Amino acid sequence: MSEVGLDEVRQRIADACARAGRDVEEVKLVAVSKRHGPDAVRALAESGLDVFGESRVQEASQKIPLCPTGLTWHMIGHIQRNKARDVARLFSYVHSVDSLRLLEALDSAAAEVGKTLPVLLEVNVSGEGSKFGFMPDDVPAVLEKCPSLVNLDVSGLMTIPPFTPETEDARPHFVRLREWRDAWRAQSGFPLDELSMGMSHDFEVAIEEGATWIRLGTILFGERE
Ligand SMILES: *Cc1c(COP(=O)(O)O)cnc(C)c1O
Repeated sequence: MSEVGLDEVRQRIADACARAGRDVEEVKLVAVSKRHGPDAVRALAESGLDVFGESRVQEASQKIPLCPTGLTWHMIGHIQRNKARDVARLFSYVHSVDSLRLLEALDSAAAEVGKTLPVLLEVNVSGEGSKFGFMPDDVPAVLEKCPSLVNLDVSGLMTIPPFTPETEDARPHFVRLREWRDAWRAQSGFPLDELSMGMSHDFEVAIEEGATWIRLGTILFGERE
């Protein structure tokens, strides 16, 4: 897949919203800049994007200081607990929390840094062994513990469906995440308004199924090294 212009991406987002009867304001874009340098970030920032996503703490800690100020950085990749403080310092939003122990570590780290950190729980909807994320059966018990994590704002759920070239194959996974969200919202009292789902090859399907955050790398930046 190669990149297409930002205008075309915006048009495709608007078309998907129109098909689903959704307001385009409901869908927010994270530009995934992993393995692209500060110059590429600057170019997209100049076209008006201001939310960027990184999947590795070390790469982000080197890159972010070289990028324009005023951007918002989201962590979208697996986090080791000993990196929790760096995550709280570097990022203003975390999509990829996949264990209770990590939640607890991020809560302490956010307190130390003096911020409230919005976080999403990553859910392994397909049950693939190779994937990070909570197993769905484990989420209700985790949500019961969340009210005590006062420095976190547990805002919703994230998933990465199994990769297939056929975008329609992703749809049932997106539907499942939304249906679980509805059930867990009713049980837990957390609104869980945010659904982070959809990447370059399947974001239109994700929008049709309720995504509020889409995470686009390749389609904006071109292929990664
Ligand atoms: C790399 C990555 C993306 C972006 O993937 P593209 O296919 O390049 O759009 C989105 N989400 C996560 C979690 C990623 O690691």
